[in-house]
Amino acid sequence: MGTNVSVWKCKCGAHLKAVTTTDEGQAPVSLQAACPRCGHEQTLTANQILSVSEEKTLVSDSTDPESVPGGD
Ligand SMILES: [Zn+2]
Repeated sequence: MGTNVSVWKCKCGAHLKAVTTTDEGQAPVSLQAACPRCGHEQTLTANQILSVSEEKTLVSDSTDPESVPGGD
C-alpha cells in the first residue's frame, strides 16, 4: 500500500491537503474529498482517502490536485 499526499487550493481560498492510499493490484478510483471549510468537493484518484485537512503553509496557486511524495 502506498501513501500519497495531494494538495490543492479550494475555490474558497483554503489550501487543502489530503492523504490518500493506493493498494497494489487494485485500480485507483475517483474519490471525492470535501473541503472542511466550505464543503466543496475535489476529485482525487486513489483507493482510499485517509484525511483531508487545511494546510496553511502551502503557496501553490493551482486549483488542480498536485501529487507530492508522501511518507511510506
Ligand atoms: Zn473550500
